Amino acid sequence: MTPLLEAVDLHRHYAVRTGRNPFSAKALLRAVDGVSFRIQPGRTLGLVGESGCGKSTTGKLALGLIPPSAGEIRCESEPMPAAGTAAWRTLRRRLQMVYQDPLGALDRRLPIGEQIAEPLVIHEQAKPAERRERALSVMEAVGLQRHLLTRYPHELSGGQRQRVVLARALITEPRLLVCDEPISALDVSIQAQVVNLLLDLQERLDIAYLFISHDLRVVRQVSHEVAVMYLGRIVERGEAENVLAEPAHPYTRALVSAIPTVGSKRERILLGGDPPSPANVPPGCSFHTRCPFATAQCRSEIPTLQPLADGRDVACHRVHETPLRLVA
Ligand code: SF4
Repeated sequence: MTPLLEAVDLHRHYAVRTGRNPFSAKALLRAVDGVSFRIQPGRTLGLVGESGCGKSTTGKLALGLIPPSAGEIRCESEPMPAAGTAAWRTLRRRLQMVYQDPLGALDRRLPIGEQIAEPLVIHEQAKPAERRERALSVMEAVGLQRHLLTRYPHELSGGQRQRVVLARALITEPRLLVCDEPISALDVSIQAQVVNLLLDLQERLDIAYLFISHDLRVVRQVSHEVAVMYLGRIVERGEAENVLAEPAHPYTRALVSAIPTVGSKRERILLGGDPPSPANVPPGCSFHTRCPFATAQCRSEIPTLQPLADGRDVACHRVHETPLRLVA
């Protein structure tokens, strides 16, 4: 099947100063460093990893909001047009973003009905008379009552505001939503409602999601496939049920071991230290400074993604030593 969206060897590098002095040397910050994935129509790819691993940058690259330093994004096999062009604006109707902070994503001075309909104005998609009806229709789809049309963001609860953000993203009838930590700013009681809404919308509207999150508990609920990022690279990707039930990469194993469970005696794997800076990526396997299984080979050779029998790919020199089980 033709993927809806495909990332091919994406890189996004930035030149950054190494000190506060404006004349200090520059280093290359490798925010995204050779990332590839596919998202099929109506499916969800969960993109997980610690803060600063490049997840959000990957989301922006996926929508063409920032250009890659190398590699490309393809939408239904066609290369992503350059940002700002008419072709890109046309494509963007079908690829929308849902941000982490609903209050920050909304204009406090505008009634929510106007904000929900705004993408129709930007994309010149509907006549003025139709926009109100389209806004009401999409509000109903996300469970917002009609009388809220004239309310302002500060008059709504956190859950209602995230529904407004979703309604605004859905009004152009997109095929893909990039959801960047869409529930992390919400109360725990509201998070489940928004997750259920996302699942329900996917079933009804056949939308695909790139679901970016550090919360594997939620990623497990919503994702068909999972890609785990560490320092700008994907270290493991595959079917969510395989990767999260039996993680193969030592980093994925540590992340999965931290998922709270009820009644399970799973041992928590604690990683030493913080991830290194993406402006100073260690040689070899970038995880070797925190990996309990690191060998001399790990410190000098970059592992590439290798396929395992269950269809997943894992970037680890030692993954084949014993199937899915590393021996220290
Ligand atoms: Fe650990 Fe080596 Fe595998 Fe990297 S390649 S995850 S350092 S065992």
